[in-house]
This record gives sequence, structure tokens and C-alpha cells, in this order.
Amino acid sequence: MIDFSLPQELVDLRERVRSFVENEIVPFERDPRLTAHGPTDELRQDLVGLARKAGLLTIQAPRRFGGRELTHIEQAVVYEAAGWSTLGPVAMNCAAPDEANMGLLAKIADPEQQEEFLRPVIEGGARSVFAMTEPGGAGSDPNQLLTEAVRDGDDFVVNGRKWLITGANGALTWIIMARLAPGADGLGGPTLFLTRGDTPGIEVERVMNTMDRNYVEGHGVVTFRDLRLPASAVLGTPGDAFRYAQLRLTPARLTHCMRWLGAADRAHSIAVEHARTRTAFGRPIGEHQGVGFQLADNEIALDNCRLAIWHACWLLDRGEQGRHEASKVKCYVSEELFRVADRCVQVLGGIGVTDETVVEMIFRDIRAFRLYDGPTEVHKHAVARRLLRARTTTPAVPAPAASGIPTPG
Ligand SMILES: Cc1cc2nc3c(=O)[nH]c(=O)nc-3n(C[C@H](O)[C@H](O)[C@H](O)COP(=O)(O)OP(=O)(O)OC[C@H]3O[C@@H](n4cnc5c(N)ncnc54)[C@H](O)[C@@H]3O)c2cc1C
Repeated sequence: MIDFSLPQELVDLRERVRSFVENEIVPFERDPRLTAHGPTDELRQDLVGLARKAGLLTIQAPRRFGGRELTHIEQAVVYEAAGWSTLGPVAMNCAAPDEANMGLLAKIADPEQQEEFLRPVIEGGARSVFAMTEPGGAGSDPNQLLTEAVRDGDDFVVNGRKWLITGANGALTWIIMARLAPGADGLGGPTLFLTRGDTPGIEVERVMNTMDRNYVEGHGVVTFRDLRLPASAVLGTPGDAFRYAQLRLTPARLTHCMRWLGAADRAHSIAVEHARTRTAFGRPIGEHQGVGFQLADNEIALDNCRLAIWHACWLLDRGEQGRHEASKVKCYVSEELFRVADRCVQVLGGIGVTDETVVEMIFRDIRAFRLYDGPTEVHKHAVARRLLRARTTTPAVPAPAASGIPTPG
């Protein structure tokens, strides 16, 4: 039986989050510390303080770390409500990349690593990064990984360059992907390392200027120069980085969808209000079919995105891997929500491209979503490859007759 009703406790939590974000967080959208490079860490700390006071900080965390250990479907409901403001997830400590990094560390870090690198992030005192993408190297195709880790006695020495590394500036917990040449133990290949951001050899060259401004401290260019790490810095098993990245990315793709759904819904609500009150040619603009259809398209898109997200969450909550479903959902939702935001700009008229409303920021921020955690084309490529590999029992096109001339009919 399919049941879309939510337990009362979850509905109550959603309302608490909505009211917290609306009343306490939205006012910070005009704070000068929300810069072109995202919220500063100082602003983040203020927001985290408010969420802590409201009992809404890192509520998704495992119970052993004091969280509520939200299921995937619970996350869908709560993160959508948090996403009403792009600062909501920052306040509640369920924003990227920390949310996904915390999820990964909770699964594969050993107890000592969790105490040093995970606990401070869960408690909101520190931030984390996941450093994979490289200029000319790993990107859509992680097999192109260039950053190298070389064994030196019991240590590893890492050299390489990364870019688009969200939150690099000032982060404590660093998860670094590097290629490890096989050692005497036979172990090697793409490997994750875990270290502190102030380890000598990590240099944040600069923060990039980007279209979006919702990620704390923006996106950095980073050089690893003779970064020396002890054996204890290996995260999980050497050679397993791509498997761990998938473990991180499957839920991470969905949580991006959840947060952006909340933001797109906010933009839509602003557009609806404008269409109701702004008049042109003798009537509210929403009563012109051209505008009304745009609002209807938005409503349909938002509903279908929510259903798609919930379905993938339902699969994950049943213990299924859901990798391909998350891929399809990420691809679909990122494209649809971009169109929603675009239509909201259009309905608002000229004011839509100004910062008089938050719609302009949502439009620019949501554009990047089609690229990170797998660009649309890469997900579609994976979906198509899977389809083509699937075994078919009946040929789509009848085999030609022996003469080589197709049989008619
Ligand atoms: C805002 C933002 C934040 C990010 N944060 C992080 C971070 O914290 N850590 C991190 O490691 N990375 C991060 N990234 C990087 C992100 O993961 C990469 O941008 C993404 O993986 C794509 O890689 P690329 O930029 O190198 O593009 P490329 O790999 O160069 O791809 C360029 C284009 O080629 C297309 N393409 C590639 N393969 C195919 C194919 N098979 N079929 C059709 N088209 C294809 C892609 O769709 C894309 O449009 C971030 C990116 C953004 C925009």
C-alpha cells in the first residue's frame, strides 16, 4: 500500500523548522556578511547559535552524537522546510558540503577519527570540505584523478591541485581524494585521506568568484605541496575512494534536491503573490493566461519534484542502494527547479532581476545545482548506459530475412 501521509510528529517538526527559518533566519538575508563568496564563517556561527537555541542544530546526526538520526524521508520534509531560506540549512547545519561529509564520516571513519574530525562539525563549531575536483583532472570523470599520494616510510606525501572546493577557507576537517601507488601490501588506487585544514602543505590559494553565494566561504582553489600525512590519516581502506564517494553522493544528491525544492517553492510563492497583485491591461497579471500557465507549470513541477524525492527516499529507507534512482532524481529536479526559478524571474518582470526580492539570488544559486554532484549530462549518460546494458528478450528491430531484404509488415 502506498501512503503519503506524514506522522503528526514530523508535521510538527516541519512547522517548527518553517517558523524558525521564516522568523529568525530570513532577516539575515540582508546581512552584509552574506557576501559574494557566500556567508562568512562569522555569520554562520551566529546562525548556528540561533538553531542551537531553538533545538534545531544538526538534528539529522546519529543518536550517539545527540541527533535525532532522521530517516531519508524525514530529511526530505525537514530540509525542504529549512531550504525556504538558503541560510536555513546553514543555520541548522544541514547544508552542503558538511551535511554529506558528516554522513560519510559517520559511516566510515574510525572512532578516533570521528572524535577529532566529525564531532566538532556536528556540534557546529567547525566546517568540513570534500576535495576531489581538479583543474584538468578529476571532474565529471573521477578516473582522471591527478593528485598523488606517495608512501614515505609509514607516512604519505600528497601533491596536487584542486578547485571548486566548497568552504575550503577556514575549514577544520578535510577529506582529500588522491591516487595512491600500490605499496608492498598491494593496496593502492584512489584513496581518501582525512586531515586538519591547518596541516602544513595545505594552501588555499584563493576563493573563486562564482554565480552562487549560498555556500559558507565560497569555493576555493587549493594546492597540496608535500602534504605529509600519517598512516592514521587514511579514511577507510586505501583504493576505495570511488566507492566511498558514491556512498556519500547518493544521499547527498537527494539532500541537495530537498533544500533547493524549499528555495524554489519560496521563489514560486513570491511570484504567485506578485501575479495576484500586479495589474496590467486591466487585470491582475496572473489572470492573463501566459502568466497563469507559468504559475501552473511551477506548481506541477514542484509537486512532481517532491514526489520524485520522496520515492527515492522511500527506497533508501527500505535499505536499497537507490544509486540510479538518486541519479535520475538529481538530474530531473535540478533541471525542473531551474525552470521554476526562471519562470519566477519572468513573472516578476524587471524587478525579478534585481535584489528587491530573493528570487534573483535563488535563480543564480540554483543554476550551479545542475553541475555539482554530477552534471545533468553525466547522470543521463549513466541512465542511458544502464538501459543499453539491460538484457532484452525481444529484438527491437526484426532480424533481416536471409536475402538481406527486410520482410514487410
Ligand atoms: C558550486 C559548486 C560547488 C562545488 N563544490 C565542490 C566541492 O566541494 N568539492 C569538489 O571536489 N568539487 C566541487 N565542485 C565541482 C563539481 O563536482 C564539478 O564541477 C563536476 O563534477 C563537473 O566537473 P567539471 O567542472 O570538471 O566539469 P567537466 O568534467 O569538465 O565537464 C564539462 C562539461 O562536460 C560535460 N560532460 C562530461 N562528461 C560527459 C558525458 N559523458 N556526456 C555528456 N556530457 C559530458 C559535463 O556535463 C559538463 O557540462 C563544485 C562545483 C560547483 C559548481
